[in-house]
Amino acid sequence: MRVGVLGGGQLGRMLALAGYQLGIQFRFFDPSSGAPVGQIGELVAADYNDHAALERFLAGVDVVTYEFESIPLDAVRFVAERVQVFPPLVALETAQDRLHEKKLFRELGIPVPEFSAVDDLPQLRAAAARIGYPVVLKTRRMGYDGKGQVVIRSASELDAAWTSIGGPSLILEKFVAFDHEVSIIGARDSAGADAFYPLAENVHREGILRKTTVPARSATSAQQARAIGYCRSIMERFGYVGVMALELFAVGGELFANEIAPRVHNSGHWTIEGAETSQFENHLRAILSLPLGSPAARGHAAMLNIIGDIPPREAVLAVPGAHLHLYGKSATERRKLGHVTVVMADASAVDSGVTALTRVLGAG
Ligand code: AMP
Repeated sequence: MRVGVLGGGQLGRMLALAGYQLGIQFRFFDPSSGAPVGQIGELVAADYNDHAALERFLAGVDVVTYEFESIPLDAVRFVAERVQVFPPLVALETAQDRLHEKKLFRELGIPVPEFSAVDDLPQLRAAAARIGYPVVLKTRRMGYDGKGQVVIRSASELDAAWTSIGGPSLILEKFVAFDHEVSIIGARDSAGADAFYPLAENVHREGILRKTTVPARSATSAQQARAIGYCRSIMERFGYVGVMALELFAVGGELFANEIAPRVHNSGHWTIEGAETSQFENHLRAILSLPLGSPAARGHAAMLNIIGDIPPREAVLAVPGAHLHLYGKSATERRKLGHVTVVMADASAVDSGVTALTRVLGAG
């Protein structure tokens, strides 16, 4: 059984590491010959519009999935005409455009921060006045890890914001003064069976995920149930197959949807050691019509991303309960190079591990 994966970053790498133990083979497609999967699997390195290379990638592949959201849709369509692609194309199409994503939330009755499409400066002025400051201006497409977005706190900042990312196809959102950011990760198979991991609490800095804590300390069981309901309704709408993440803002007991990721997600890396079945394995089980595994947590966990600098292995591994994952990337500022997960029986032991690891990892 061979799975084709579009994208060759760390998510693809961790998918393969989970799949190898089930006897699954992989082939990856990525524009860069230095992609992190190249160290552990077969990589076709070519542009996404290279049809001959895509044909080579597809030879002998049973099912195709993707590990990166900004893959050109034309390439995914080309692939989907030849081999089954999961998650379905409609999920990727929706996730690639923040406006479509937010409209879908609204249509499904999922609370969402007020938003407006913005294509020029007069529209930006009008939308900001209507929504009320502070607001966040974002590109509808290709934004990730906080790139392509700017917070606007008053009308005097409108022109500067427009200069920095202005152009057609933007979205303006109400800035949410959230208490916490949380995410729910679900897996769904083609028969409609689903499984949801405990709600995770996430801390971002400069738009990049730094820390995930599970179970989310701040979350009530009612919030967990609501998040599952939202995630399930989106997956049902898409006829989803695979793992999906829904990121939410928690404000005074309410949850507001921010965005979906139609793939395995950084806030689910803790599941490798911290859950009965990892998100990577459950994604593979879902797309290969194998029974889904239990998403139950094995205790308390926290995951810290390694960004910019690789810490000394000795120091990380000296922390009780710490599991180190390095992605085989060269160090670059703001780049995710790896992560560490601490799993312990109780929350206070996890907190001690996080304190020790924060010292080792530095500011990141
Ligand atoms: P995004 O790419 O939309 O997930 O944004 C990256 C991060 O920026 C989020 O995880 C939040 O920390 C922050 N952010 C994005 N949108 C908003 C918003 N409307 N209100 C407050 N913070 C936001």
